[in-house]
Amino acid sequence: MAYQLSSGSIRNREGVDPRLILVSDYAIKRTVIDFGHPAYGGIRSTEDQQYLFKIGASLADGINDISDHQIGFALDFFPYVNGRTSYKIAHCALVMAAFLEGASRLGIQLGWGGFWGGGPYIEGFTDMPHMYIPKEFR
Ligand SMILES: [Zn+2]
Repeated sequence: MAYQLSSGSIRNREGVDPRLILVSDYAIKRTVIDFGHPAYGGIRSTEDQQYLFKIGASLADGINDISDHQIGFALDFFPYVNGRTSYKIAHCALVMAAFLEGASRLGIQLGWGGFWGGGPYIEGFTDMPHMYIPKEFR
């Protein structure tokens, strides 16, 4: 099944590091389940980041702790299953697999927030919809 990003998803990823766009383009063609890029999933202003911190949606306050989203090195996705967004681990992992396959094929060093805190099945903070370029590869 080949999927296509919506115009909203394409808009939401505008301005991020070009490597993230390349893997996103690859992943949408190869993924076994549909996904999109949410509002705030690409580039965020300081105000956006402060807002997300305030409502508990991000750990970075945007001033002392700068999010990778503020500097264009992160791109979030949302799995889209049976007509609705799903953040179930299995769905996030399938989308992640398409991203990592793309990274491998394209020679792009890509990180996944789902590995944070020891991985999604271990208690701790993970960020499963979060793909990023690791610091050592910027
Ligand atoms: Zn993110």
